[in-house]
Amino acid sequence: MRVCQVCALKEDHPGVTLGDDGVCSLCRLGLVGELLENFSYTDQVHEEFTRSGPNPNGPYDCLFMYSGGKDSTFMLDKFVNEYGKRVLAYTFDVPFESTHAADNIALAREKIPATFVLDSDDDNIKLVMREVFKKPVTKPGKYLDEKLPCASCRTFFVIRAIIYAFQHRIPYIALCADPQQILTMESDTREVVRGFYQTFGSQLTDTVFRSEAEKVLFADDEELPKIVFPFIAMRYQYDPDRIVADLKAKGLYNSSPLETHCTLFPLLNYYSFKHWNCMFYKLNAASHRRSVRRNKNYDRSTFSITFPRAADLPAIEERMKHAVLDIAEERGDPAEHRSALMEIFRELGATDDAARFVTEGFLGMRTVATDLGITL
Ligand SMILES: [Zn+2]
Repeated sequence: MRVCQVCALKEDHPGVTLGDDGVCSLCRLGLVGELLENFSYTDQVHEEFTRSGPNPNGPYDCLFMYSGGKDSTFMLDKFVNEYGKRVLAYTFDVPFESTHAADNIALAREKIPATFVLDSDDDNIKLVMREVFKKPVTKPGKYLDEKLPCASCRTFFVIRAIIYAFQHRIPYIALCADPQQILTMESDTREVVRGFYQTFGSQLTDTVFRSEAEKVLFADDEELPKIVFPFIAMRYQYDPDRIVADLKAKGLYNSSPLETHCTLFPLLNYYSFKHWNCMFYKLNAASHRRSVRRNKNYDRSTFSITFPRAADLPAIEERMKHAVLDIAEERGDPAEHRSALMEIFRELGATDDAARFVTEGFLGMRTVATDLGITL
């Protein structure tokens, strides 16, 4: 198996091709056209949003997708307290989310003067996740295919938010994807909905959103909310460590980034290892490696998860793969899996507590799958 000389992506990584010189299409900026197009649209919408006055059609200038994570807490505080926007903080209660996020949401409700709305739809989001894990994969695959379960969950609740904003005539939706995540997201409202139809078909789409998704699909342009990505607009200043420090100083954040996470994280890794022979965060790790290669003094990440410089990522990935597939397929000794995973997460820079928390999640992977109706 050949790997990219720069970023170490494997030659069979979905959507990536490796040249004869051993450099991959991402390192060669094969995606640069698409990327720039996305950036210029998001820059334009962001500027239009910052210049816009109060929404004449209702009490809110924007629906802010608030997860309780560090990025969205940081931005919610800015939107309300610095930009003076009238914000509806919309939280979709993802049934797979750890309670740590809920603690942060409680802190924000006390300290940030916005209207907070909590939405949920456990049955339908679980139905969508079951479909994803059942769907056969097609090789060689497209860019980001290894992240399909994660992207589908997010798309589900982004569409819920789009429908909410559409019904309440809120013109903007703020989404705190980090600069890395923008590559995984569609920025045009109608295209988000169309993409869901394309992935899951009209029967499932109409089941989970009833007739509401269809209304968005056929609405006039002026009626549709636009998605604002504030972190993309400020991409050169994005600095996760500074964000956490700022939030802690304001009493708005309690946990470490690794702890605010999804209980499906082990299953997401299972999916990417099983179908695409890579860890879930492989693209993030590759992007980090690319940056370090380009600039030896590079010392911050442009995405949420950081990778310590000293960590031997290809080796870590291989060890993680064995642990994940063994646990999923009930092989080996759980005590050995536990110590192997603890070691891996420590090497990735987690504190002992965080490493233990994540490790226990991986060991419980089969229970989570069974509860959700997913067969491993
Ligand atoms: Zn590469």
